[in-house]
Amino acid sequence: MPGSQLEVLKSACPLDCPDSCSLDVTVRDGRVESLDGNHVNPITNGYICGKVRHFPELMYGADRVLYPAVRSGPKGSGQFCRVSWDEALERIASRLAEVRDQFGGEAILPYCYGGSNGWLTQNGLDARFFYRLGASRLARTLCAMPASTAAIGLYGKMPGVAFEDYPSARLIILWGVNPAVTGIHLAPFLRQAQADGAKLVVVDPRRTPFARQADLHLPLRPGSDLPVALAMIRWLFDSGRADFSFLAAQCRNWERLRERSQEWTLERAAQVAGIGAERITALAGLYADTQPAVIRCGWGIERNVNGGSAIAAVLALPAVAGKFGVRGGGYTLSQGAAWDVDALAGAAAPAPATRIINMNLLGETLRPEFQPPVRALFVYNCNPIATVPEQNKVREGLLREDLFTVVHEQVMTDTALYADILLPATTFLEHAEARRSYGAMIAQFTQPVVEPAGEARANHWLFGTLCRRMGLSQPGDPETEEEVVQAIVATSASAAKLSESFAETGRADPPCGTRPVQFVDVFPGTADRRIDLCPEALDRETSKGLYAYLPVTAPAQFPLTLISPSTSKAISSTLYQLVRDTVPVEICPDDARDRGIADGDAVRIFNDSGEVLCTAKLNGDLRPGVAALPKGLWARHTHNGQTANALAPDTLSDLGAGACFNDARVQIERV
Ligand code: SF4
Repeated sequence: MPGSQLEVLKSACPLDCPDSCSLDVTVRDGRVESLDGNHVNPITNGYICGKVRHFPELMYGADRVLYPAVRSGPKGSGQFCRVSWDEALERIASRLAEVRDQFGGEAILPYCYGGSNGWLTQNGLDARFFYRLGASRLARTLCAMPASTAAIGLYGKMPGVAFEDYPSARLIILWGVNPAVTGIHLAPFLRQAQADGAKLVVVDPRRTPFARQADLHLPLRPGSDLPVALAMIRWLFDSGRADFSFLAAQCRNWERLRERSQEWTLERAAQVAGIGAERITALAGLYADTQPAVIRCGWGIERNVNGGSAIAAVLALPAVAGKFGVRGGGYTLSQGAAWDVDALAGAAAPAPATRIINMNLLGETLRPEFQPPVRALFVYNCNPIATVPEQNKVREGLLREDLFTVVHEQVMTDTALYADILLPATTFLEHAEARRSYGAMIAQFTQPVVEPAGEARANHWLFGTLCRRMGLSQPGDPETEEEVVQAIVATSASAAKLSESFAETGRADPPCGTRPVQFVDVFPGTADRRIDLCPEALDRETSKGLYAYLPVTAPAQFPLTLISPSTSKAISSTLYQLVRDTVPVEICPDDARDRGIADGDAVRIFNDSGEVLCTAKLNGDLRPGVAALPKGLWARHTHNGQTANALAPDTLSDLGAGACFNDARVQIERV
């Protein structure tokens, strides 16, 4: 185009994905034209997922929220009138002040999760604003809390095996994780390891792409990971394959773990998991025999009532079998443990002693009888209708006439439709952002590459402005993006080095480096630097003790388990508005035949919490008794606007009070 200006600018993806790709963003005449990977983050290696390649469609699509607006029709109707930022902020400030003065600060609930994992969009000035307002605090438990509670209990904070070191492993176990669609930059290292002769084992109820290529696949019933891991532990001890010298030197409470594994014979675990005992025996034997061996522990394991104990048992395996101390040996969970920074330091405000509300219980929390009632809800970085259990209760709560709802959003989500005041939010390409990865190791600090669309404003600006307008700013507060990032970086033992690195390159490596070897370069962050295989604190938190298995009984009328896995289309609910077609539920052919359901039939999935009307897709990669409908779907993706979340219970996991999506029990019938 004559005279058009083309630039390629650097950025980094802050979406809720382990990889944190470093990006080359092509900008033409002030608009983002395309995104691709570069090599700043070594694991990005010049490519990104197909999801984020569509990001310009989010930025400039018809669903983008461009201006502040106030509701002009019934709640949920999506009818809004444009107003100025000044008017919107004045209405918000005066209503929040009114709620605080009349009902107390706890009647205000901030609600955010994972739309961006950046230091500037979460736990920064937003936290300062709500802390100083005396609002209720939110327990962000939708994902990762059971896993991180278990990991911190056993290991304190210890970074895991880097993706780049997987080719050094001779055995790789992918447990509850599907790198074909999430954390995709692990995939080339898996292929390289396999090409070099490493064995691959996949533990997943579905025959995922990597399960198809694996040497061994264990298609467990969802939620039965705990018995299987404990049976492996018992077998390692009883067959003399446990590493007793490592246990004696580096671990506490291993005798208690051994004792608690005793009830799980391979046969009993196999019965609960619905697989042949020989598969668990094969895995245990392979694990004992192979060095180095690494477990990629995924978050799929935690999405049930036993999820925390299950993660703890899986993470205990490398300690029992003595897999540490060698490159390519140990485990990988979140690499957030590589960072010694306090991400809340940018808030520069102490947390008040206000009540803490579990975000998985939003539907219950919004009921009028919840005491004291929530009168104002402020949603940002989040689309709870699409992501939280008990979707119908959440919708019902958002319809309350006495609830004042503010939504700060990039696009018109299902939740944004229920806003009383809707505010346009910037995307990560329109604001400064800093974030550390949780799959890769590095952190990146990036600047906007284009001006915001319409009148979109960043969280950082919004909450800073509200602080000033409501008299909540204090002298000395870090205000600019740079000051907030500096306040966070200053909490690291390597602050000077990190600051210098950010200033010079926009990238920083964690103090342990990017490829630490567990028990060589990094050690447990527990007080005595030993692994605690049965910590008192976790024991107390669980209702029947750590590693106690709580069976989830399927009522006769709801015999199927509905899982809601990630897909290659969206990051949780982000970007799903770009999928225009309805999405089918996947059913095992045996279950479909029993119900007279053929491929493409219209079906009803239901339980006591809700019903989803969609079409059926027969999938032989699912084990019998399990159906799958993707997580994060929007109302437009089914025929009646309800999704898997309408069928997910709001029961909580044994550790970390996490969501139990995979405990959804349903029936499916042809309609
Ligand atoms: S979603 Fe993940 S894979 Fe895709 S660009 Fe972002 S970090 Fe990379």
